[in-house]
Amino acid sequence: LTLAEKASLVSPSEYIILKTLLESRDKYDYMSEDILRSKLNFIDSEFTISITKLLNMKAISEERIQGKKAYRITFSGLDILAIKMLYVNKILKNLGLIIGEGKESNVYYGYDFDDNVIVVKFHRVGKSSYKNIRKLREYTEKKSWISITMDNAKKEYQALKCLNENYALVPKLFGYSFNAIVMEYIEGTSLAKSKLSNPKKVLDNILGTVRIAYTNCKIVHGDLSQYNVIIDQNEIPYIIDWPQWKKEDQNLLNRDLNIILTFFKNKYNVIEDIDEISKFVKGE
Ligand code: ADP
Ligand code: MN
Repeated sequence: LTLAEKASLVSPSEYIILKTLLESRDKYDYMSEDILRSKLNFIDSEFTISITKLLNMKAISEERIQGKKAYRITFSGLDILAIKMLYVNKILKNLGLIIGEGKESNVYYGYDFDDNVIVVKFHRVGKSSYKNIRKLREYTEKKSWISITMDNAKKEYQALKCLNENYALVPKLFGYSFNAIVMEYIEGTSLAKSKLSNPKKVLDNILGTVRIAYTNCKIVHGDLSQYNVIIDQNEIPYIIDWPQWKKEDQNLLNRDLNIILTFFKNKYNVIEDIDEISKFVKGE
């Protein structure tokens, strides 16, 4: 089953189970069947049928704790909740094919209620083990991967919201729910694969976006590279992938700038002075 099919098959009582497991994610690693039952007032058959269906869809997972069944919500279950909420809020009518599976996200085509093509990015922190360990250390309190994932999505949402309000060249933000961000589909190719006719102008536009991010939103992208810039048909560069931003971090800003300036120097022989550019983006 595709993600969209799964979401369309989930019944109201199954949503309640997913919501209940989501809300207790940081309290219980797995919630015992007894506690889950006591929180819902389902009849026995309804409970059993719903749990079986959610398990088959891999929206929840089961574990035995001291011989007793216990459950937790999975990333797929979280995706399903997000899709439902976006549908109810008339942001997303339908989900399409997958565009790409990243290290910490799955990106899909979607359709809004006017059948325009849009993009849905589902965050999933904890897919790759390296980052896991590093990220876990960043958190002092014990948080579930589901919570860390939702924090990430919220961060990307906050960045895109501010950048949109300041007319930056980033995808238009259409919505946000749980671990999902809905945004404009930028038709084009990555900067890495593009063959630019006016590289100087493209670089200026990219630096303009970095400047808006820094001066208006007080943020530094933190993972800026030729892979996180999409060039459209009019050779306009859009910077994507914002969840890891940091507040006015000088080292990170210099790293971002270095990566992008090195790329333009090596591929297009466009040479800029890093110190001057750094002053420019900081509005100094
Ligand atoms: P990550 O690299 O963390 O997985 P990205 O936000 O970079 O997440 O998205 C992964 C890929 O999905 C991008 O490299 C790009 O190909 C595609 N993508 C993401 N957002 C958009 C968008 N708004 N329009 C078009 N393609 C997108
Ligand atoms: Mn990316």
